[in-house]
Amino acid sequence: MHLEPAWLTDGLEALEQGHLIRPRRRVEPLEDGRSRIDGRELVDFSTNDYLGFARDSRLADAATGIAAGAGASPLVSGRSPQYCQLEQNIASFEGAPAAVLFPSGFAANLGTVAALVNRDDVIFSDKDNHASLIDGCRLSGARVQIYQRERLDQLADQLAQASAAPRRLIVTDGLFSMDGILAPLDSLCDLADTHDAMVLVDEAHATGTLGQSGRGASELLGVEERVTLRIGTLSKAVGAAGGFAVGTTAFIDHLWHHARPQVFSTALPPSTCAAASTGLQLITDEPDRRLHLAALADRFRGHLSQLGLPVPPGPGPIVPVLLAEASTAVEASAALSDRGFFVPAIRPPTVPLGTARLRVSLSALHSQQDIDQLADAIAAVIPMEVRTRA
Ligand SMILES: *Cc1c(COP(=O)(O)O)cnc(C)c1O
Repeated sequence: MHLEPAWLTDGLEALEQGHLIRPRRRVEPLEDGRSRIDGRELVDFSTNDYLGFARDSRLADAATGIAAGAGASPLVSGRSPQYCQLEQNIASFEGAPAAVLFPSGFAANLGTVAALVNRDDVIFSDKDNHASLIDGCRLSGARVQIYQRERLDQLADQLAQASAAPRRLIVTDGLFSMDGILAPLDSLCDLADTHDAMVLVDEAHATGTLGQSGRGASELLGVEERVTLRIGTLSKAVGAAGGFAVGTTAFIDHLWHHARPQVFSTALPPSTCAAASTGLQLITDEPDRRLHLAALADRFRGHLSQLGLPVPPGPGPIVPVLLAEASTAVEASAALSDRGFFVPAIRPPTVPLGTARLRVSLSALHSQQDIDQLADAIAAVIPMEVRTRA
């Protein structure tokens, strides 16, 4: 046996004490938004499979008989016909001049931010941005200024003070993954215009769920033409795997040459590309799924307000139930499992200390009845004093 050093065992012990141990669950998808999770069949409110395409046989069929590996990075010889087709399909779906693919959405954010700015530049990053944007900021070597989107006057000051830097870059999630609320994209674009900054929007949770044609928060807020680069993932509503960036041809050419996770990783497998192209096509062909999802989200937010729970305003499928303490969130999640619902507890460090929560991720596979029953279960398991305190 290898010796396990004290820092290691102490660290795990601290997680245990803080109710921060993450179980490694075995999850088997079933019909109608249900999953068998560690042997129990539950209505699954945990996935980012917002439109149900990750479980759709049409995506699996599209990948049948197509190679499972690309064999090389895209710059060498990994750009298969399915890869080239997917690039084109993304650009056309997004109404953008050009697109570049990445092995994942995480890699897309990491590589894009790091390729856009250098040591002498300044990044302005929303305090709630996803880990992949945060890591991209660190990796770039640029100076990073965190801003609060409720205080854009301060962001304006920070931008003005950075006027001497060669480049300024504002980075934000389009739809925040833990609160389910929108970024103030129009104001950010105004500030970017005034202060000659680039804007990067991560549409991970909004692609396929928001906007008239499902292009995301930028479409919903009418700023598609004003955002420098839009990042998306193929692993959430699209139902496959991979990430992408869209923008002008010069920006995309720059990423093709300089975004390292894309340059130095093996290209997305042809089979994955074929599945992703099918998912994108279905987003366009089946807008009713998006409308059904939006109706479920509205209805569920209504239920929570009636229960006296604070509901962050949002148009999308992510609805947090704010509970403050990690232990409360873990207990509530376990109690919901006993009633047949899987709603994960989200704890620090994923969210700030004291803001633990349940995160309800709705899917077009859910029915109105599922939503109503979940609300009843939440009413039963969340102690009244927790609700009135919030
Ligand atoms: C999931 C997620 C990503 C990463 O996408 P993957 O394709 O899963 O790597 C990036 N940004 C946000 C906001 C996300 O929620």
